[in-house]
Amino acid sequence: MSTGFQGKFHRQNMLSRFAKDLVRRSRSKCELCEKGSVKLEVYELPPLEEEPSVDYCIFLCEECLKQITTPKKMIPAHWRCLNNALWSEVPAVQVLSVRILRRLAKAEQYWAQELLEHAYLEPSIDEWSLLSN
Ligand SMILES: [Zn+2]
Repeated sequence: MSTGFQGKFHRQNMLSRFAKDLVRRSRSKCELCEKGSVKLEVYELPPLEEEPSVDYCIFLCEECLKQITTPKKMIPAHWRCLNNALWSEVPAVQVLSVRILRRLAKAEQYWAQELLEHAYLEPSIDEWSLLSN
C-alpha cells in the first residue's frame, strides 16, 4: 500500500467526519442552490490544505457539484441561486459563489458581472477567492 493511497483514505475519512457538522450548518440543503431532500456531497474548496478543515468544505447537491467539476456542463440559469449564496454566512460558500460568478461573467453572463459589481466582499474573502480557480 502506497502512502499516497493511505493519504487519500485518511482524507476521505476526515471528510466523512465533517458530514455531521455540515448537515447542521446547511440544514441538509445544498449550500449553493438550497435544494433539500437530495443527496449532498462534501466539496473541498481548492487549494487544498494539508489537513482538511470543515471551514473549507461545502455541502453540495449533485447538480451543483457536476457543474462545478465539469465547467463545460455549466448551465448559467442554474446559477441564479448565487444571488443568495453570495450573502451566505459561511465564508467558503461566499468564496465559491464569487469564483463561479467570475467564470460566468467571463462567459458573457452580464447578470453575473452585475452581481459581482454590487457585492461587497470582505477583503479576506476577496483575497481567498483569488487563490485558485
Ligand atoms: Zn445545489
